[in-house]
Amino acid sequence: MVLAAGAAGCGGDTTGGAPRPGRTSSPAASASPTPPPGPPGALPRPGEVGRIPRPTDGLPPVISSIPTRRKVVFLTIDDGWEQDPGFITQVRDRRIPITAFVTRDAVEARGATDPTAQGGRFVGAGKWGYMRDLRDAGATVENHTLTHPNLITLGYGGQKAEICGTSALIRRHLGNRPTLFRPPFGNQNILTRRAAKACGIDALLLWTATVQPGGKIAYQVPDKKLRPGDVLLLHFRPDLSRDFRILVNKIKRRGFELGNLDAYLKAATR
Ligand SMILES: [Zn+2]
Repeated sequence: MVLAAGAAGCGGDTTGGAPRPGRTSSPAASASPTPPPGPPGALPRPGEVGRIPRPTDGLPPVISSIPTRRKVVFLTIDDGWEQDPGFITQVRDRRIPITAFVTRDAVEARGATDPTAQGGRFVGAGKWGYMRDLRDAGATVENHTLTHPNLITLGYGGQKAEICGTSALIRRHLGNRPTLFRPPFGNQNILTRRAAKACGIDALLLWTATVQPGGKIAYQVPDKKLRPGDVLLLHFRPDLSRDFRILVNKIKRRGFELGNLDAYLKAATR
């Protein structure tokens, strides 16, 4: 696994993250959700984020974490086998920043389940509308291939078909062109990066810790601690809304904020 370069110095700015919306004093204020102001999650402060070097080969970088010393971590969720409406409600109502990496087969409930999804049952699956709702709740939806293959067993043409095909589907169903790609199992080679570039991808995003059933965090570092800039990997799976609530509360109890990945990546690759 390629880890991003070490953290750069923090800026001196200690003021809080994103601006808060003004409070209304009207007792008649409606309980219906209003559109959120700006992107969800903590945004980078001036000078906070270290630079991820641009690869000299001109291909998209492979990134596993964000170089910062601020106690901020990033949530990502993969595949799309289970489509739990309670999860969307949490993302929207708690303004939780999260990036979803979806496969066609998961979202459309075809083929075999991803072995890493641990027990996907296709609950509510088969709908791009779920991903549109998730996007409308504030999430970003990105590319994780059509069929979840081990890409390093494929040639350039096969890899490009998986990546470009998924970007075309997301564009058709959601309207956005993906700029991030997550290779299944984290397996990628130079052909993956070439194919990703040809499909309009700016960066390949891996992860530093995975989230297990029950909201338990499985670390890839021996001291079993969250670190600033960590990228956490979840899956759409049964009991996601319960596990997600446990996870978010755990992260906050440990003094970490949830960062807006798009804004941090932009700052790191400026
Ligand atoms: Zn996956």
